Parts: sequence; C-alpha cells; structure tokens
Amino acid sequence: MDFERYIRDIQDFPQPGVIFKDITPLLKDPQALVQACETLCGMVKDYAIDKVVGVDSRGFIFAPLIASKLNAGFVPVRKKGKLPYKTISESYSLEYGEDTLEIHTDAIQKGEKVLVHDDVLATGGTANAVCKLVEKLGGEVVQCNFLIQLTFLNGADKLNGYDIKALLTY
Ligand code: IMP
Repeated sequence: MDFERYIRDIQDFPQPGVIFKDITPLLKDPQALVQACETLCGMVKDYAIDKVVGVDSRGFIFAPLIASKLNAGFVPVRKKGKLPYKTISESYSLEYGEDTLEIHTDAIQKGEKVLVHDDVLATGGTANAVCKLVEKLGGEVVQCNFLIQLTFLNGADKLNGYDIKALLTY
C-alpha cells in the first residue's frame, strides 16, 4: 500500500519553520489503518514481544493495536506528572524544546522483550529516553518502530545499536 499518500505536510506547525507530518488522514481511512498496523507487526515477526511501549501521545494510537496483534501487553510512557503510580523518569531534548518522560516502576519485568513504538522518529531524543527507561527497569529493547522516520534529522544515530524500523522514510 502507498502509505505516503495518507500523510499530510503541515507547514509551520507547531512553530514557524517546522513541517509537521500529520498522520490523521491515514488514521481515518479504514484500510490504511489496518494495513499500517499489519505492516508494523510484520516488521517484528522474528521476536516474541512481551510489552509494546507507546510514547505519549501519538504513540498511543498504534501501540495498543500492535500489542493486541502480537499478544503482548501495552505500556504507556507519559509526559511528567501524568502517571498515577510510582514512576522513574528520564529527561531529553526534543525537536521543539525539552521534556521529561515517565514510566511506572512495575510496567516491565526484568528480561522482558520490549517493542518501542512512536508515530515519528525525528532527532531521536524521545525514543532514546524511552529506551533508557525500559532498560532501567531491566527490559530488553528488541526493536523501535515508527510510522515515519525523518532520516535528515539523524535520529538513528541516537538509537545506535537498536533495530529501527519505519513504515515510511523521508
Ligand atoms: P524526536 O525526539 O526529535 O525524535 O521527536 C519525536 C517526537 O516528536 C515524537 O514523539 C513525535 O510524535 C514528535 N514529532 C516530531 N516531529 C513530528 C512530526 O513531523 N509529526 C508528528 N510528530 C512529530
């Protein structure tokens, strides 16, 4: 399927100079939604995944769909202050500023195989922080997958050593 035609470029969002990749046209199309999920799951077929970690907030759209197809659990990584139970945190620099991510301390057991999912890989700061959180809990990150990888922002360099997959690369 030509997924590219379901991705919309928004100029100057959320701030001037940024071209934002909008995935909502893909989400609202029933076939594109199912096919995108199938394709992402196909990329992880060699691993037995225990947990799929989705990143706040657009990572929450596909991560539970992927988890359900792979018979894995879903774990949310959220922005600071949003999770109700005990957390550990990791700060990182984002394409548009700085932020802190948190995960529940009991979200992942030692030795569990983890798939990290987010909608877009840009500079890699976010995904790298998520991988650190998973590893602090003793989980093994077996793959990071994304709908979109913006290769010109060199996010893969920050995720050196991890298996990185994306539905679309720009
Ligand atoms: P990074 O930390 O620079 O890799 O940025 C990745 C994070 O920013 C992800 O959580 C994305 O949701 C968000 N992001 C960055 N650029 C875009 C974009 O063009 N469209 C949608 N989300 C984006």
